[in-house]
Amino acid sequence: MDASVDRIARPWGSRTPYDRHEPWPARVDTFLADGVEPGAVTDWVQAASILHSDGDAMDIAVVDGRIAGVRGRAGDRVNRGRLGPKDLFGWQANASPDRLTRPLIRRDGRLVECDWDTAMERIVSRSRELLAESGPGSLGFYTSGQLYLEEYYTLAILARAGIGTHHLDGNTRLCTATAAEALKESFGCDGQPGSYDDVDHADTIALFGHNIAETQPVQWMRILDRLAGGDPPRLLCVDPRPTRVAREAAVHLAPRGGTNVALLNALLHEIIRTDRVDHDYLAAHTIGFDELVSEVAECTPAWAAGICDVPAARIEEAAELVGTADRLLSTVLQGVYQSHQATAAAVQINNLHLIRGMLGRPGAGVLQMNGQPTAQNTRECGADGDLPGFRNWQNDDHVADLARVWNVEPETIPHFAPPTHAMQMFRYAEQGSIRMLWISGTNPAVSLPELARVRAILGQERLFVVAQDLFLTETAQLADVVLPAATWGEKTGTFTNADRTVHLADKAVEPPGEARPDLDIFLDYAARMDFRDKTGGPLVTWHDPESAFEAWKRCSAGRPCDYTGLSHTKLRGGSGIQWPCNDDAPDGTDRLYTDGISWARPDHCETYGKDLQTGAATDADEYRASNPEGKAMIKAAAYLPPHEAPDDRYPFQLTTGRTLYHFHTRTKTGRAPQLNEAAPDVWVEASAADAGALGLDEGDLVEVSTDRGSLRGRLRVTGIRAGLLFVPFHYGYWDTKAGSGPDGETPGRAANETTVTDWDPVSKQPLFKTAAAALRLVERAHGEIASAPTTTASAPARHGSVPDTTGGPSAYVTEDTA
Ligand code: SF4
Repeated sequence: MDASVDRIARPWGSRTPYDRHEPWPARVDTFLADGVEPGAVTDWVQAASILHSDGDAMDIAVVDGRIAGVRGRAGDRVNRGRLGPKDLFGWQANASPDRLTRPLIRRDGRLVECDWDTAMERIVSRSRELLAESGPGSLGFYTSGQLYLEEYYTLAILARAGIGTHHLDGNTRLCTATAAEALKESFGCDGQPGSYDDVDHADTIALFGHNIAETQPVQWMRILDRLAGGDPPRLLCVDPRPTRVAREAAVHLAPRGGTNVALLNALLHEIIRTDRVDHDYLAAHTIGFDELVSEVAECTPAWAAGICDVPAARIEEAAELVGTADRLLSTVLQGVYQSHQATAAAVQINNLHLIRGMLGRPGAGVLQMNGQPTAQNTRECGADGDLPGFRNWQNDDHVADLARVWNVEPETIPHFAPPTHAMQMFRYAEQGSIRMLWISGTNPAVSLPELARVRAILGQERLFVVAQDLFLTETAQLADVVLPAATWGEKTGTFTNADRTVHLADKAVEPPGEARPDLDIFLDYAARMDFRDKTGGPLVTWHDPESAFEAWKRCSAGRPCDYTGLSHTKLRGGSGIQWPCNDDAPDGTDRLYTDGISWARPDHCETYGKDLQTGAATDADEYRASNPEGKAMIKAAAYLPPHEAPDDRYPFQLTTGRTLYHFHTRTKTGRAPQLNEAAPDVWVEASAADAGALGLDEGDLVEVSTDRGSLRGRLRVTGIRAGLLFVPFHYGYWDTKAGSGPDGETPGRAANETTVTDWDPVSKQPLFKTAAAALRLVERAHGEIASAPTTTASAPARHGSVPDTTGGPSAYVTEDTA
């Protein structure tokens, strides 16, 4: 049965209810450009979405050599044919007239077009100069969570074994560093324990700081379909905003910012007090329970209520919910990862599952989520600081094994200290020891905290900045060399979603002008630099996506993220496949830890762990002594107050975040008309009580300021918790007159003008959720309204006070549930 649905107005589309333990029915969503009939499509080319971490499988419609639309892949395990608004409309950005089509080089202060040889030789000559003058530590690479696996792996080998630099990280540091770290701290190794299929089997789903309705809308459709079917799950929502998840939740907790550890310790206290503990599981698979018991002994709901500003009775209800679950699925995202005590809090969610024995069974699992589509690959390929294949940089055997794979001496691979994290790389650049920063597929001039500082760092004369992107982003405008990159649909490669599902995305059309795939750019650089292995052969032995994938398979062999059973051919035509995929598991692996903990033994683990309060590293001997059998580690943490508390000058807490219709810094979604029109400009959310106290109302132009800077936007009065302001972080300056930052005419627009340079001591993830801020009126609304969507957590508190967000005829999508 076909339905045509405005998927801006109804982002999650029509319901296909299903019962617990039943398979999720298929529904194929198709969107074709205006005037394109299905019969006109000459090719449907397989791909998956790159505008979130869900990994929604889709086919790209090609007409006359151009992308003309998309449709979901019904047979794929992730989405069963469904697509979210960004999947449906985001592809239009590929054909934007302002795509970069030629390299640019800075001459006399201006960026001017040049050919590839000129641009690459400029990069190569600067690299060589710096290597000769200051050594490998003067070069840094800052990449993305949006390239492909083959590209990260190539970047990892050229940075680590070619240049020999310690400074390689991804913007995944802002996104999934805490997810990775929490998994390492609890299980000794990165790797998502759970599976999206757990949604089909869970009787209780707990979402911690995870607005899944907006960040992974297709998995929210799956939850909505369960809620509409027989034996629906009970939801727990921990979020300070009135998200769609909160509206559907049996229990909604809206804690004060930065208090997650207090809340979670109270939940753990209650579960232990009521002895809803799986003692057999604990004895067989864990260490550390006694320390947890003692840490949370005094953490009563009444104690936490005073810290979190949540009624004790609600905390008890939440504990009852998760404590009585037969199959509990928890999901975690930025409300935890980008908040105070990030890793400590994320680990307590793992603890909840460990003490309840809720792992490795259908419906019982943890999803420490990712934000970006390929963040998992940044992590596993070693482009985020860790060594490829989840190898332990502190374990000489692991380094030697990687050196064997790369045919280099172990000393070639820097492993004398922890890898440099992104925030530290920018600090080194600020101080002058990093003199070249190659930025690929990310836009730190909008996404990093404290933007005035970031712009000053990138704008330094002594720092040579390379920006590799699709558009002249705020960051690219500050670069010395700009390389035009091909994107999704214009190149072939694989990537892995948040539940370890590997998808292939094939090239459908040619990139515009002279734009090149990121893989080709990295291979070109490696060839021009003439990187060699220890026997004099080329260091990088591959030449295209498929040969790069085969090389990666050799690197992943025997590791937790074993890809040896996969190939581009095997991934073509059917569903995505979850790693590990090898001879033992030729069809992939639904869940990790079905039979105990596999990768925490001292000789196997990816890390020896850190102190959750200080981030101080444990060494091999300590680890071996405390966890000789490689069990899961229950690590307790005491609550500490956030670093920045509201005061008379800055009386609000400020949190930044996302909206359903945009991704990152809007480089793509801001160029897709339906998405842009749904949320065209920045806004500020405040509660009715706070707005009333300041005499403010919907649409007033307001200024949010902190010690770092300020921004202006129109006010949306919502059901957000009192005392908290919310600003979406997507908006920068590329579509303003100012270009790369505020100026005399363009006031601050980016949320990160106001955020603080601070990070979690364990994962090094920057904190975006706990700044202290002031709010003031700039100008009355005079009939204007905030451009916040009404379909999301940004819905107005007074229903009907602003027009509903709709997409109109250009947003109609066909949904086929036949
Ligand atoms: S918006 Fe934040 S959480 Fe989402 S993908 Fe980007 S960095 Fe990750």
